[in-house]
Amino acid sequence: MSYSYEAPVSQALFDRASIVTPGGVNSPVRAFRAVGGTPRFMVSGDGPYLTDADGRDYVDLVCSWGPMILGHSRPEVIEAVQAAVARGTSFGTPGEGEVVLAEEIVARVAPVEQVRLVSSGTEATMSAIRLARGFTGRAKIVKFAGCYHGHVDALLAAAGSGVATFGLPDTPGVTGAQAADTVVLPYNDLEAVRAAFAAHPGEIACVITEASPGNMGVVPPRDGFNAGLKALCAASGALYISDEVMTGFRTSKAGWYGIDGVEPDLMTFGKVMGGGFPAAAFGGRADVMARLAPAGPVYQAGTLSGNPVATAAGLAQLRLLDDAAYAKVDAVSAEIRGLVSDALSKEGVAHRVQTAGNMFSVFFTADEVRDYEDAKRQEAFRFTGFFHSMLADGVYLPPSAFESWFVSTAHDDRAIERVAAALPAAARAAATATATGGADA
Ligand code: PLP
Repeated sequence: MSYSYEAPVSQALFDRASIVTPGGVNSPVRAFRAVGGTPRFMVSGDGPYLTDADGRDYVDLVCSWGPMILGHSRPEVIEAVQAAVARGTSFGTPGEGEVVLAEEIVARVAPVEQVRLVSSGTEATMSAIRLARGFTGRAKIVKFAGCYHGHVDALLAAAGSGVATFGLPDTPGVTGAQAADTVVLPYNDLEAVRAAFAAHPGEIACVITEASPGNMGVVPPRDGFNAGLKALCAASGALYISDEVMTGFRTSKAGWYGIDGVEPDLMTFGKVMGGGFPAAAFGGRADVMARLAPAGPVYQAGTLSGNPVATAAGLAQLRLLDDAAYAKVDAVSAEIRGLVSDALSKEGVAHRVQTAGNMFSVFFTADEVRDYEDAKRQEAFRFTGFFHSMLADGVYLPPSAFESWFVSTAHDDRAIERVAAALPAAARAAATATATGGADA
């Protein structure tokens, strides 16, 4: 299928990038391989809009995969960054900004008594797993198929996000030994977790789960699932790790914990807390965190951890995220979800819009999606036509049917009207798409 609106400047940049960078991108899903066409090289962002290198602007429904919950170039965040940069960009010493950001996280999320700042969500989950193993003296970890926790070797088994998008079974480079202690279970299936604890008595260090998964598309936990995980972990001396890299400070002031109230032993954060900069964190029970170097023996470190510019951006963003801000993001999400669903229904396209707070995604299936197997059963080929029609009409969606959509406080009526205007044609493209590729029309 060819797209008449190809972007020549982006294409030229992509061609150059492909010479010096594998696949032309620095993170796989950005390459548009699941949907085809030319990845857009963005040059600027303003509120709910992105502008690409060809000068076209888009309503952004990706928001940098979650972080930009206030929209792009929010003046207060930019000012905080500029002030921090003017003081210097990295000292390799402790600084007050790290303390204030840690205090903000501890104040918002009750189960987090102590927190360690890192630079990416991957580092946060990797470190939390190591800490759980060090604390319990056990080797095995439980994760769920379709959950993505970053590209940590032991956590790439049956992972979501790009791994799901490309249908990769397992990743070459991860050795059997690295994955041998990872038990992968179907999501939303407490019986499977119970059986795993029975099969490996005294061996499981932790269960790690996305607080509410967004990396196989949005698949929220069934009522009692997270509480059940916590109870099973507590009963066997394992730690319950809630990965809130995506949901943290996005779905509420206290992330998904603020919605389901289940107290994890450890939690991981990223995305929103960095305000668009590389900042992430893991934290939790003080007795567990006390095992971390230099307080304890479990080693973990980072040259740029707690970077003053990143912490300033994250703090400025968090301080603007009050109840009114979350109410606004929730309302924008509800409105766009409704518009998408109406448009698809009008064209008779079987679909389900699933939500986790203000995160949502569209599955091209009539059935409830409870786990990764369900997610893979959707008619993902319909997404391709839908995606490209939206792109042609100036709406930037995640370039995969297995990702959450994200909105911001900056999505105003004008932006939403643009989305509404783009939807009828996109729904038609979804309706006429065929499994062998592209839309008939
Ligand atoms: N955990 C979850 C739930 C995520 O969604 C992601 C990234 O999308 C990560 C961990 C990894 O974070 P990062 O990409 O910052 O390494």
